[in-house]
Amino acid sequence: MTVGTPPHLHLGGRPLSVVGRARVYVCGVTPYDVTHLGHAATFVWVDAAERVLRRLGVQVEVCRNVTDVDDVLFEAAQRAGAPYDRFAAVQQFHFEHDMDSLGVRRPAHEPRAHSFVPQVVALAGALLESGAAYAAAGSVYFSGGHVPGAHAVPRDEAIALLAANGGRVDDPAKRDPLDQAVWQSSGDGEPSWPSPWGPGRPGWHAECTAMALSTYGSSMDLHAGGADLRFPHHAYESAQAEAATGVTPFARSWLHVGTVRLDGEKMAKSTGNLVFARDLLERSSGPVVRTLLLDRQYAAPWDFTEAGLEQAAVRLDALHVAAGRSDGPASAPQAVLNALVDDLDVSRAIDIAIEDGGQAARDLVAVLALQ
Ligand SMILES: [Zn+2]
Repeated sequence: MTVGTPPHLHLGGRPLSVVGRARVYVCGVTPYDVTHLGHAATFVWVDAAERVLRRLGVQVEVCRNVTDVDDVLFEAAQRAGAPYDRFAAVQQFHFEHDMDSLGVRRPAHEPRAHSFVPQVVALAGALLESGAAYAAAGSVYFSGGHVPGAHAVPRDEAIALLAANGGRVDDPAKRDPLDQAVWQSSGDGEPSWPSPWGPGRPGWHAECTAMALSTYGSSMDLHAGGADLRFPHHAYESAQAEAATGVTPFARSWLHVGTVRLDGEKMAKSTGNLVFARDLLERSSGPVVRTLLLDRQYAAPWDFTEAGLEQAAVRLDALHVAAGRSDGPASAPQAVLNALVDDLDVSRAIDIAIEDGGQAARDLVAVLALQ
C-alpha cells in the first residue's frame, strides 16, 4: 500500500516545507493604544497559518514580540503621566484580552524589548566586528545603503519611507540617510541603558533582530507582520541578522498581511481613522470577526464596512448550517484542506465547505476556530 505525500503549506506560490517543527515570528504591537482592526487582521492571519500547519502535523512555535521600547510609547506614557513600563503593561493586558476574544492562540514566546537590551548591545558589537556597522556620536549605525536595492525600493522612496517610520534620516552623525541605528544615544528624559558607546537604547529594527535571533537562533521558517512593515522594518531586521550571523536567509518565508483601510485610507493612530477590535467584539462574536478578517486573500488591502461585517455573519451562519448537514462527497474534506494549504485560500475553503457540507464544513470550523 502506498500513501500520498502529505501536503505542504504554500505561500506566495512557494512551498513552506517543514520537517516536524516550524519557527514563526510575528512583529507584535507597540503597547500604547487599543487594538485596531489592522492589528487584529495580522494576528488572526498568523493564528490561521499556525492552525493550518498544526492540522498538517507540524509542531509550531510562534514568537510575538512586544515593542515596549519605542518613541511613540514614551510619548503616550508621558501624556498619560505614567511610567512607560507600567503604561505598557496595562495596554498589554487589554491587547491579550482582545486576542483571546478573537480566538488567537497564546504565543509560545513573547519577548519584551526592554528585557533584550543586552542582546541588542551584543548585536551591535557583532555588526561592528563584521564591518557592517560603525559607531558615531554615542550611537551604532548599521550601514544600510544596499538594503533598498535588495528589495527593489528606489533610494528616494526608501528615504521617504524611513523618514515616515521614525528612521531619523537627517541625523547628522550618519554617513548615509539609509543607515539605521542599532543602538541610539538617548535624548534628555528618555529611558536609557548603559552601553560601551554611552547611555542609549535599542533601535526599532534591531530590537526585532535581537529578539528573533535570541529566540530561534540564526534562522526561522516563517516571518509575519503587516504589509506596511515590509520596508523598512523587515528589510532592515533581516539585513542586520544576516550581516551579524552570516546565515542566509534569516526567514525562509514571509507572510505580509494586507492593510485594513477605512474609506480608502489606511487605519492609523496618526490619522485617527480607527476601528477597534473591541467595539466589533461587543457587537458581534469572535468567530464573526475572524470570518470577516479571513474570508479574503491575506495579502490584499481592503476596506472595512458595516456591510462587510454583516456579510461575514451570514457566511459564518451558512458554514454552521452546512456543518449540521450529512456528509457530502468523500473528497470534500481533502478539497477544503487543499484550499487552505494553497496560499491560505480561506474563501475557497468556505465555498467548498458550504457547498458540500458535513465533515468538510466541520473540519473547516475546527481548523480555523470558527465555532
Ligand atoms: Zn519587528
